Amino acid sequence: MNDLDYGKRNKRGDFTPHDPIALPPFWRGAWTLRDLGRFVLDYVWPWNAFHMATALAYWYLVIPDVATMQTLSWGWALWLYAVNAAAIFVFYGIFELRFYVKRAQETRFKYNGKFPADQPSDVFWFQSQNIDNFLRSFFISIPLWTAVEVLFLWCFANGYVPWLSWADHPVYLALLVLVAPAIHEVHFFCIHRLIHWGPLYRWIHSVHHNSVNPSPWSSLSMHPVEAFLYHAVALWHLVIPSNPIVALFQLHMAGFGAVNGHLGFHRLEITEDTLLDGHAYAHYLHHKHFEVNYGGDGLIPLDQWFGTWHDGSKEAEARMDARFQRKVERMNRKKNTPTPAE
Ligand SMILES: [Zn+2]
Ligand SMILES: [Zn+2]
Repeated sequence: MNDLDYGKRNKRGDFTPHDPIALPPFWRGAWTLRDLGRFVLDYVWPWNAFHMATALAYWYLVIPDVATMQTLSWGWALWLYAVNAAAIFVFYGIFELRFYVKRAQETRFKYNGKFPADQPSDVFWFQSQNIDNFLRSFFISIPLWTAVEVLFLWCFANGYVPWLSWADHPVYLALLVLVAPAIHEVHFFCIHRLIHWGPLYRWIHSVHHNSVNPSPWSSLSMHPVEAFLYHAVALWHLVIPSNPIVALFQLHMAGFGAVNGHLGFHRLEITEDTLLDGHAYAHYLHHKHFEVNYGGDGLIPLDQWFGTWHDGSKEAEARMDARFQRKVERMNRKKNTPTPAE
């Protein structure tokens, strides 16, 4: 597969795609059947279908019965943690093993030409991005993911919140499933924008941003406050009348779906001529430039509305540089303004 048909590579070996990230057709005024059809297909397949499949598998195979969940106990909480940890180990591990350990695709389609394992750094525990990210994921983020899960299941089981059945509300619940990715995007944008505020960034979010060149294990490498807020997206289903399967879908979009932004590759070569779009570019640009793309791919284009959207184009780069320049000037002005005492 020749990745240079899809983009270019600079001297450092970093790959840049030719095509900028396109917003969904309804935000670009592209109402043709072809555009809409492609969007719908991409919306469902394969990522959201996968998150729904894992939500259903959990519901039927993993989640304890309602009577058990009415009482908080370590037994079922630890069981859920074990399954979440094992599932992430396998799911993220597949990407890590194939693309980062075996390097099956070498650096074809890789945004950053280097591999984290080749770049030891003092910012990481044991100077290793992989070990640091792995430990933070399994001992901080996945326990907090599980805490959120236990909390909403316990609320549903005790009838503290409405539990709508699929038999009585099939249309409403189906619509809620369709809207869930938009809830994810808005929730993620808001908490993410919040923890980019100076003091919170230094205290909380800098942990995640240590990985400038993210890889799958970076996905859930977070400070505990961020890990909780991130997975707390599922708690919206305690506020909106919902059903635990939809809440699980919402949770899995966060937990399993975090890998998308951190794949590091523009396309994954699945077979000789099958490419998988990992939707990694927008968040890769966030890790590279920090103050752009606080949300995802623009399903709800908050970044565009707030002037922080970077689609990978030259124009977007120039807009970002101008914004950074204005920020530096603002800060310099502030520094040079005499205080009243002077
Ligand atoms: Zn990230
Ligand atoms: Zn960030």
